[in-house]
Amino acid sequence: MSLQRAMLQNFVYDALPSRVVFGAGSLDKLLDEIRKLDVHRALVLCTPEQRAMGADIAARLGAHSAGVFDGGAMHVPVETAAAARDKAQRLGADCCVAIGGGSTTGLAKAIALTSGLPILAIPTTYAGSEMTPIWGLTEGGMKRTGRDSRVLPKTVIYDPVLTLSLPVATSVTSGINAIAHCVEALYARDANPIISLIAEEGIRALAGSLPMIVKRPSNLEARSNALYGAWLGGVSLGAVGMALHHKLCHTLGGTFNLPHAETHTVILPHAVAYNASAAPEAMEIITRVLGARSAAEGLYDLAASLGAPVSLQMLGMARDELDRAADLAVQNAYYNPRPITRDGIRNLLEDSFHGRRPR
Ligand code: NAD
Repeated sequence: MSLQRAMLQNFVYDALPSRVVFGAGSLDKLLDEIRKLDVHRALVLCTPEQRAMGADIAARLGAHSAGVFDGGAMHVPVETAAAARDKAQRLGADCCVAIGGGSTTGLAKAIALTSGLPILAIPTTYAGSEMTPIWGLTEGGMKRTGRDSRVLPKTVIYDPVLTLSLPVATSVTSGINAIAHCVEALYARDANPIISLIAEEGIRALAGSLPMIVKRPSNLEARSNALYGAWLGGVSLGAVGMALHHKLCHTLGGTFNLPHAETHTVILPHAVAYNASAAPEAMEIITRVLGARSAAEGLYDLAASLGAPVSLQMLGMARDELDRAADLAVQNAYYNPRPITRDGIRNLLEDSFHGRRPR
């Protein structure tokens, strides 16, 4: 059913304040953007793998750089957060510039959470964290997350040139991670027509551009469209609540140490198949955008055609862990369009483990 034909439900729409500077070469505007924020000593954050990018940012900032912290790590271990906070304080930083994926943005958020320092984010993956007020911290293998308006980056520079170096396999899974944000936004409890438009456009942009990136990773037009889709995915994730898919991936990532974007890629078609009967409008939108027979089949076929992993087995999960995963996944109640049952989740995990194409 199109939004035009559907009877509009009452809704609440919360616009999140952030400034976006988008396009190839927009990194050249970094100093202008720092001045607009009225800050003077930026701590540059990156991962060890992106040290060269971090150094380039510091060089561009010149006298506005307080230094570089290059210890960003997946899921923001509390020890890393403590070390980065300490460095920010010692250097007298008055803002953070995060260049990288969700791990680096997450580190900037950890600093902002306790210090209130503003963040300028320069995303180089499609994870979308830069558009959300969601933070995450991991201690002793347990990841805690929360929402706090202080951690929402003030400015985001999206320069697709920076994504040219993102390996194809990572581009694909990171892009499907962004599609997952859009998909769950369409059937969120607090879904609204603005975010649904954004989410639909996000799926369109990513599903159209990822095959082109696989064919030619240096295709700047495709890289631009994918980053645009990633932005829309981040907006979707930040604006409305997520459901089964994100909760399940959180459990699998946290407890079984499965890789973030790859896990999203494997689970998405199965979570969508699980919810299909309870969210017909969302399914119709996804099916139409993908030009598929059903939303779940379309998402599965997209991942498979891009050469992405399609089974938990491929990610190294052991079959005898599925029961515990199902137990954990039903432990805490949360909203989902279709009621969560232990049997239903166990079947979903079985299908995901084998990488079966959803019917
Ligand atoms: P990542 O940030 O861990 O990056 C993966 C690897 O790719 C890193 O080694 C990184 O340095 C490298 N990399 C990134 N961009 C590159 C580029 N252009 N060229 C070459 N290498 C590059 O991975 P991710 O998937 O972006 O982020 C995952 C993390 O983000 C998870 O911890 C997840 O929970 C979190 N996340 C949080 C939110 C939120 O709203 N809080 C949203 C999405 C993801």
